[in-house]
Amino acid sequence: MVFARLAILTSVFLGLIAGSFAQELKIYFIDVDGGQATLFVSDKGETLLVDAGWAGHENRDARKILAAAKDAGASRIDWMLTTHYHADHVGGVAQLAGTMPIRTYLDHGENAETSANSVKTYEGYLAVRAKGNHRVLNAGDTLAFGSGVIHVLTARKELIAKPLKAPGAGTKTAGCTDAEVRKGDGSENEMSIGIALDFGRFRALDLGDLLWNEEGSLVCPVNKIGYIDVYLTTHHGSKPSGNPVMVNAIRPRVAIMNNGARKGGDPGHWNAVKAAPGIEDRWQLQKSILDGGAHNVADEKIASLSPQTEPSWIKVVARKDGSFTVTNSRNGVSASYGPRR
Ligand SMILES: [Zn+2]
Repeated sequence: MVFARLAILTSVFLGLIAGSFAQELKIYFIDVDGGQATLFVSDKGETLLVDAGWAGHENRDARKILAAAKDAGASRIDWMLTTHYHADHVGGVAQLAGTMPIRTYLDHGENAETSANSVKTYEGYLAVRAKGNHRVLNAGDTLAFGSGVIHVLTARKELIAKPLKAPGAGTKTAGCTDAEVRKGDGSENEMSIGIALDFGRFRALDLGDLLWNEEGSLVCPVNKIGYIDVYLTTHHGSKPSGNPVMVNAIRPRVAIMNNGARKGGDPGHWNAVKAAPGIEDRWQLQKSILDGGAHNVADEKIASLSPQTEPSWIKVVARKDGSFTVTNSRNGVSASYGPRR
C-alpha cells in the first residue's frame, strides 16, 4: 500500500517535471563583458555551458551564469564545453566550479599557445578539469542533448568531412572561388570548437572565436552546416571573423552578438550579417562604443547598455517546429519568429 502510494506520487512528480520542460529548448546568451558564456538547457533539463567568461571581477561571471541557470530551473552543469583556451572563455571555469557542480568537461585537447599567460590560464583549467569527467571533442562527433543533437563542426582546425543532414547542407556555396583568404595566426582562436545544435526543425550555430578561413572552409565549396535559425556571431562580432561567404551560406534568421562595449561589435561584421539573405532580426549583449555607435541595434534589443556586474542575457526559447522567441532579460522586450519557411 505504501509502495503503491509512493509509486503514484513518484509518477505524479515525474509528470510535473516532464511538463515543466514543455518540449522547449532554452539558450541563454549571457553578457560576460565581451567574453562568451552560452547556456543551453535541453527539453529534458540537461545543461551545456559553452565557455564560462572571465576570471576575477569578484566572481562576476560565475554569478551571472548561476543566475541564468536558476532562471532555467537548473542547478548543475552537465557539460562544460570550452571552445578554446583564451581568458575570456576558459578564465571563468574555476570560479564557476566553485559556484555550482560541473559533471563533464569537453575541450579540443592540448593548448596551442605557449606564452606564460596562456600556459598559466590553461594549467588553472586543467586543475579544475581533473575534478570531473573529461572528453576531447573531434570534428564529426555528436552529443545527444535532450531530444536534440549537438554536432561538433570544428576542433583544432579540423572540420567535419561531410555536410550535415540539414536544410541547405550539401548545396554548392556561391562566392567561394573569389572569396578572400587571410593569413592564419596559429592562435587558439583557430582551434575553437564550433557546434551546431539541432532541436527538431530549430537550428543554432556557435563557432566560438573561429577565424575567417575556417569559417569559409565550413561552407566551401559545399555548405557543410546548412541553414541556421539563431547565429551567435563568431568571435564576438570582431574583424578577424564574420566571413561573408559563410554568413551568406547559413542564411541566419536571427543573429546575436556577444560583444563588449569596446570588444568585438565591429560595424563591418554587423554589415555582413545585415546583408545575409533571409536575416530577420539582430540582438546584442552590450552596446558598442566603437565608431560613434551608429551600428548598434536598437537599445531595447541590447542586454546591457554599459558594462555591468548585474546578470543580463538574451534568452531564446525554441520549439521543435522551428519557431522560437527571443527575450531581453533587462527589459522583458521579446519577439517571436515562426518556423523557417
Ligand atoms: Zn573570445
